[in-house]
Amino acid sequence: MNINQLLQAQRQFFATGQTKDIRFRLEQLKRLKQAITDSQGAIVKAVNLDLNRPEFEAYFEISTLAEINYAIKHLKSWIKPQRVRASIDQFPASAQIQPEPLGSILIIGPWNYPFQLMISPLVGAIAAGNCAVLKPSEIAVHTSQIVTDMIQKTFDSSYIAILEGGVETSQALLAEKFDHIFFTGGNKVGQIVMAAAAQHLTPVTLELGGKSPCIVESDIQLEYTAKRIAWGKFINAGQTCIAPDYLLVNAQIKQELIPRIQASIQSFYGENPEHSPDYCRIINSGHFERLTQLLHTGKILAGGQTNPETRYIAPTLIDQVAWDDPVMQEEIFGPILPILEYRDLGEAIAQINARPKPLALYFFSKDRQKQQRILQETSSGGVCLNDTVMQFGVTQLPFGGVGASGIGCYHGRASFDTFSHYKSVLKKAFWLDLSWRYAPYQGKVGLIKRAINRL
Ligand code: NAD
Repeated sequence: MNINQLLQAQRQFFATGQTKDIRFRLEQLKRLKQAITDSQGAIVKAVNLDLNRPEFEAYFEISTLAEINYAIKHLKSWIKPQRVRASIDQFPASAQIQPEPLGSILIIGPWNYPFQLMISPLVGAIAAGNCAVLKPSEIAVHTSQIVTDMIQKTFDSSYIAILEGGVETSQALLAEKFDHIFFTGGNKVGQIVMAAAAQHLTPVTLELGGKSPCIVESDIQLEYTAKRIAWGKFINAGQTCIAPDYLLVNAQIKQELIPRIQASIQSFYGENPEHSPDYCRIINSGHFERLTQLLHTGKILAGGQTNPETRYIAPTLIDQVAWDDPVMQEEIFGPILPILEYRDLGEAIAQINARPKPLALYFFSKDRQKQQRILQETSSGGVCLNDTVMQFGVTQLPFGGVGASGIGCYHGRASFDTFSHYKSVLKKAFWLDLSWRYAPYQGKVGLIKRAINRL
């Protein structure tokens, strides 16, 4: 079956109306949950083969189960039409907002959390009553196979299909008319996806990346701050879209903070992280080469060691970095943490605001006024105060970027909203027909003027 035939089959299935039935949706969510539960071991193994991911971190992929449980619990209330007040000039009438599914959704995923970032949007697509076609990243080869096996065993392709492949497959899919495209990946490919979607006027959700700053004030709990930064930066060897990209630290605390971060790295991964079972590798040689080029900036305070055979790059801290250095031009997406300093919080805010809006912004300070200032004076997809990365795990918080870091959001209710159309319905009654709006208008202008000014 080619892609066009596959889409035709999905359109026919969607037209039967089965996906609109809440019982059907709940059943499919439960099937997906069971499939994930049954495949846990295989998923953990595949992610380990792709990224040398330790078992503990591999379970982050399975946390999609929380999204499924949340959707199952709340679906009944989400799909209920919401009554709203119809204004008096509509009398006699009632009005409501009714969510309806969009049709067939194209979901294109990245390689860094290759299972979760495919399946988590799928949960929203199913909950909202859609069909879907998934395209996992070809770069995480082993996980791509596992997701494909799991989806093919669980669903008929006329409902949920999956196609493995690289750029060509992706572009062949993008040439078709879907009802929504959900893309997770880099900004450059995001532009390609959006341009392709524009050909069919297909709406898009773009979950992109960017440079997420981590600002540290001097009034902090030093040890926890250091641990939380080191953990968020070096899990998955820095290949996390919301990893702190760079550190922007108040000069007053810098000399105390850096040794604490070094100590945290050592306590997590030992004297030599290359021998740690808990430290990941870079996904492929292309990314390895790209990252090693970034090591030629500033002064390396910790790490810096590499091994091209295993694509190992040590957790690395770089000091004496300037804003115009190569490491500060693009998202790092690897285990390299440049450190910049500031003297006044306003200066840090100005630097952030002079750059594209980040996906995440981290701010460490006990001071509520400073926290408020950051929330008021900067813009980012999300903010996490006094920790890193953990905001991703709160199902109730919409997850997505703003400006250059993305369009739209998902997780929890936001996923259902993303894959639904909110249809406005006005229902009029026949028992009365006020004639004020009909021509001839002579003598009615005063009436419309008064009515409009009262609205
Ligand atoms: P990528 O943009 O290179 O690839 C993503 C997907 O697009 C893959 O499935 C790939 O096959 C496809 N693709 C690649 N080139 C294409 C082309 N020319 N035309 C059509 N499709 C194409 O991204 P990646 O390297 O897999 O992932 C890393 C990026 O993703 C980082 O920038 C990271 O910040 C971002 N990311 C964002 C989030 C988020 O939730 N916002 C999550 C994870 C990763």
